[in-house]
Amino acid sequence: MKKIKNLIVGAGLSGAILAERIADEKKENILVIDKRNHIGGNCFDYLDKNGILIHKYGPHVFHTNFEEVWNYLSKFTKWNYFFLKPRALIDGIKATLPFNLNTLYQVFPKSMAENFEKKLIEKFGYNVKIPILELKRKDDDLKFLANYIYENVFLNYTKKQWGLKPEEIDENVTARVPIYISRDDRYFQDKYQGIPLNGYTKMVENILNNSLIEISLNTDFRDVKNEIDYEKLFFTGAIDEFFDYEFGELPYRSLNFDIQEKEVEYYQETAVINYPNNYDFTRICEHKYFLNQKSNKTVISIEYSEKFVLGENERYYPIENPKNKNLYEKYLKYSKSLKNVYFLGRLGDYKYYNMDLTVDRALNFFENQIK
Ligand code: FAD
Ligand code: UDP
Repeated sequence: MKKIKNLIVGAGLSGAILAERIADEKKENILVIDKRNHIGGNCFDYLDKNGILIHKYGPHVFHTNFEEVWNYLSKFTKWNYFFLKPRALIDGIKATLPFNLNTLYQVFPKSMAENFEKKLIEKFGYNVKIPILELKRKDDDLKFLANYIYENVFLNYTKKQWGLKPEEIDENVTARVPIYISRDDRYFQDKYQGIPLNGYTKMVENILNNSLIEISLNTDFRDVKNEIDYEKLFFTGAIDEFFDYEFGELPYRSLNFDIQEKEVEYYQETAVINYPNNYDFTRICEHKYFLNQKSNKTVISIEYSEKFVLGENERYYPIENPKNKNLYEKYLKYSKSLKNVYFLGRLGDYKYYNMDLTVDRALNFFENQIK
């Protein structure tokens, strides 16, 4: 039986950062296992035959206001300072997203747009963000605009993405993309934004580059758990899977990426275009934009959302609502009865973490519970 001090399940951002912290600060041995054939988790990217870096599991743009998180990652990568400026197809127009003052002029006649702009600023002020469901609840002369945005941007996209209407999911989800009373076309306004200059996989490889860290890929915890004698276990996979679905399955949304090479220099105007209406897919990503790569060809991925079905596809999004949170809390409570077993990460915590929250969680977890 293999003996190891620390076993980490999952070589994504959570697992890699925790391994680095334990190795660097505590000088202990760590074995990191992952069932996939690569490190990086869902941030994984790879160079294709045209030299374009492909985000295998969907577009990943790093953004944060946490200086500590930015400084930590900056020890392992240089950055391409990149601002995501996506578009959404609305009434046949590739319009600015998040819906902002510029979008008003793209989709409405000028006099109407001017009128909405004036009313929005009068009511809410300038440089203010309003979640769609909040705007929709206001029973006033902005009702037409609220319904227009709801129906053209949010309703069908959310139904495709979650299989639910915007009112049926946690309000924080649609609030991620608020109506923005501004002319700032960036998807995020965080202080720090970028793409690792040599890709996410290289960044995670650098994080894991420590002689105390051993990595074993193509290794599912379920297959090896009785063959490894560990003192501490850190699990960044799905918490319900760990407990053999004792209390029932936690629901997730899954994705299907149709990755296609195109014989043109550019396929679309920008890195990400959302398709709220008319198509089965949610968005199309053109990968060469992230690092401004040059090639005669281009690669796109068309993203379809689907229900997660155990054994058939992968978990990508926890579905945060009171019922599911309740079920997760049961697992969390149960997990506290185990000694030296810890859960973290997007799957371990069942939380819709962006990368910066994932990093923040791993760093804080180490500081507060392990150091
Ligand atoms: P994961 O990356 O899921 O890693 C968990 C790892 O554990 C996986 O490699 C898995 O194979 C492994 N594992 C699971 N179970 C087992 C087992 N039984 N045995 C062995 N290994 C196991 N965040 C942003 O900030 N900006 C973005 O633009 C952005 N875009 C995203 C787009 C999509 C489509 C998705 C799905 C997520 C996006 N994110 C984005 C979020 C980001 O991917 C996560 O915050 C981050 O990857 C979470 O890291 P993690 O290590 O917790 O989980
Ligand atoms: N959303 C939408 N239309 C859009 C973009 C987003 O309805 O064009 C909603 C949808 O419910 C989505 C949520 O806002 O799931 C969050 O969007 P985000 O782009 O943050 O999702 P992610 O990048 O995590 O998939």
